[in-house]
Amino acid sequence: MDEGINKLKKLFDDSKNIVAFTGAGFSSESGIPTFRGVGGLWNEYDPMKYANIKYFSDDPSYYWSFFRDVRYSIIKNAKPNAAHYALVDFERKNKLKTVITQNIDGLHQMAGQSKVIELHGNSREIYCIDCSKVITMDEAFKILKYKLPPRCQYCDGILRPNTVFFGESLSQQKIEEAVFFTKNCDLFLAMGSSLVVTPASFLPQIAKAAKASLVIVNIDPTPIDYLADVVIHDKASKVLMHILKGS
Ligand code: NAD
Ligand code: ZN
Repeated sequence: MDEGINKLKKLFDDSKNIVAFTGAGFSSESGIPTFRGVGGLWNEYDPMKYANIKYFSDDPSYYWSFFRDVRYSIIKNAKPNAAHYALVDFERKNKLKTVITQNIDGLHQMAGQSKVIELHGNSREIYCIDCSKVITMDEAFKILKYKLPPRCQYCDGILRPNTVFFGESLSQQKIEEAVFFTKNCDLFLAMGSSLVVTPASFLPQIAKAAKASLVIVNIDPTPIDYLADVVIHDKASKVLMHILKGS
């Protein structure tokens, strides 16, 4: 790990235009379980039922009972961890230009990050599929206490989270923005992502093709470790603390 850290420190010092790309592992130390890997949510809950648009359209109560009984208190109690705060520090030093995240927990913004591209949306925001009225997850939770699935208080439409379900497309505008920052960065730092689902798997390749350095920090190996200039199999917070001390 020390050799990897030293290489990353050097790349970090030489970079002016860093993009951080984060996945579920980045929030694991905030108490939010990842999907894959040890303790992953998918081992216990079937994603094809609770995070799939077809299933949600047929029966939204499955998602909403999962949200009410499991997900709400996890998100509600989660606080940003040291890794989130390190990225805020890099942004303030004008080294980091954007965070691109697959996470839907809103923790980067809660830590004070101003530029965040949320590729998969934000589960703290809820909207009505009929009239588009937006409410908070706390408001949805209150409705859920007496109505499953919860319905809009204005038009009685079904409520849904502002996240991308399996079977739905990502926002084209967000993808374009993420690709723009990726093509223009000099260091692409992928952290806490298994890098198996798109666009997680293709953004690092775009960065490499644009001659940026690629660093992967992830506890488990990823299928594109071979592409990276530096690979560190360790916790994101631990690695970023080392960089922060030396910056
Ligand atoms: P993933 O679950 O597929 O992979 C997470 C990876 O993080 C694993 O490979 C694991 O080794 C690694 N990891 C765990 N703790 C770590 C730590 N402290 N430091 C560094 N690495 C660590 O997650 P993914 O790649 O983000 O992709 C799956 C999907 O999961 C995404 O679509 C995302 O929207 C969704 N998701 C989001 C949240 C959230 O919002 N916090 C939580 C779970 C899943
Ligand atoms: Zn409505």
